[in-house]
Amino acid sequence: MQDVGLVFGDAKAVLGKLQQALVQKQVDGYLSDRRACPHCGRPRAFKGHHPLRFRTAFGDIDFRSPRWRRCRCEQTREATFCPLSELLTVHTAPELTYLQAKWAAQVSFAAVGALLHDVLPVDQGLRPETIRRHVLDTAERLEAQLGPEQFAYDGGSQREIEASPEPAAPTTVGLDGGYIRGRDRLPGANGCFEVIAGKSIPEEGAAKVFAFVHRIDRKPKRRLRSVLESQGILPRQHITFLCDGGDTVRELGAFVHPRSEHILDWFHVAMRIEQLLQTARGWQGSEKEHLLKGIKRVKWFLWHGNVIRADETLYDLLEEINGVREQDRHAGRPPSVVLRKLDRALDEFATYVDNNAGAIVNYGERYRCGERISTGFVESAVNQVISKRFVKKQQMRWTPRGAHLLLQVRTQVLNDELRGSFERWYAGFGARDQVPLAA
Ligand SMILES: [Zn+2]
Repeated sequence: MQDVGLVFGDAKAVLGKLQQALVQKQVDGYLSDRRACPHCGRPRAFKGHHPLRFRTAFGDIDFRSPRWRRCRCEQTREATFCPLSELLTVHTAPELTYLQAKWAAQVSFAAVGALLHDVLPVDQGLRPETIRRHVLDTAERLEAQLGPEQFAYDGGSQREIEASPEPAAPTTVGLDGGYIRGRDRLPGANGCFEVIAGKSIPEEGAAKVFAFVHRIDRKPKRRLRSVLESQGILPRQHITFLCDGGDTVRELGAFVHPRSEHILDWFHVAMRIEQLLQTARGWQGSEKEHLLKGIKRVKWFLWHGNVIRADETLYDLLEEINGVREQDRHAGRPPSVVLRKLDRALDEFATYVDNNAGAIVNYGERYRCGERISTGFVESAVNQVISKRFVKKQQMRWTPRGAHLLLQVRTQVLNDELRGSFERWYAGFGARDQVPLAA
């Protein structure tokens, strides 16, 4: 059985030799076509050569790259030049760079190396560190395509916006944060840094994800805007930004699009209230049911967008808890740990509500109208973008810059856009007509 057909060893040897012969022939042809001076036709004089290694998915190829003298009638300042550097503008074949980026978006650099070595005659020198460098180079190239940061909406004047075509149904953008474990841990810090991830979901068409490391990204608004534009979102289209209350995500949506509203998403509000209820359930005091009822009333007011009544109820609850704690003190009873925790949690929640008052809407009404009120779907987007590649492998440690760059490759892969980027960089990338094999 094991002797039937090719084994990987055979296939790799055949492909490697074939590639070597093919590339050598192409390079020889390229050089002989260009040897003559385009003006007088005399062959240019040879000035020496240097070694050049070209990496491909089918093995590394070593050349002697010639240096030629310019002809006297070519009016250029340089006396000599290397003709091959016009052909091989980079020293790694685009397809190999593409494969590395595509796979590194999903699995570790070491796993990418192992995968390539298993099936292709790539050189042993393709170490995880080399792959990492290639992938981050690709990411830098993607980053360079992004325009300057947008500080106010720069997609047209008010008149141009009004004159723009009738838009399709509204779009929802959910934003959320997550944390990645950093390589460097400063004293007193836990070494984690924040990643903002989001998902833009049009009524029709494919959703897209985006992500960046907050601490170092200088163009978060442009990044978000270009995602929206790639989905064909028009200036008059309505966008609902749903996010948790952090300053970072709240500011991100501002000025990105002329027709947008910002809503504190119900998923996070409800989750926080659930935590308050959990804490309160741990109390053994006689007023427990009353307390739970009060917290549920807060939830009910927030659900209807009534921030004022929610606030009042919260402060009443805080006062009542303080009253009970005071009584305990007077009666010489030990202070309740649960009440102290609850006191702090309610106080924090009240601050959260106050800080986000402008983004709290009548969720009940929106819900009845079939509008989106929750970024529960973003929670899964954050997991999709961050966790699978960055967090699950606990031994991995990231620098903010490295994580940010890999996130750009990863979101391109998840959005099915990476191939398109390579096609823009290399005309006809991977699209060569199949050469029929002669029998
Ligand atoms: Zn000449």
